[in-house]
Amino acid sequence: MAVKITDICISCDACLDECPVEAIVDNDENPTGEDIYYVYSDKCVECVDHHDSPACADACPTEGCIVWDEPGVGSVESPDRGQAGTPVVED
Ligand code: SF4
Ligand code: SF4
Repeated sequence: MAVKITDICISCDACLDECPVEAIVDNDENPTGEDIYYVYSDKCVECVDHHDSPACADACPTEGCIVWDEPGVGSVESPDRGQAGTPVVED
């Protein structure tokens, strides 16, 4: 499955180099045209077999910015994933 970057993203760059499968692109390469960073759901593996938790969300300074995507989006699912739309990292 995948995670999703929401519109409270501040384009700070912190997540970009953390992704082990290069699923994240910056606002210039966002295929939706939105001025925020973007996760390719067909590439994101929810960091399974790479990290204990999604590295992008762990690196993100914007609380609640990176959320779990809908079930069925992407191919790999973390056993620890939350409901779609809920923050990956909750304080
Ligand atoms: S959860 Fe992991 S694989 Fe998915 S975009 Fe974030 S860093 Fe990349
Ligand atoms: S770390 Fe968070 S706020 Fe920064 S670019 Fe990535 S998603 Fe946006």
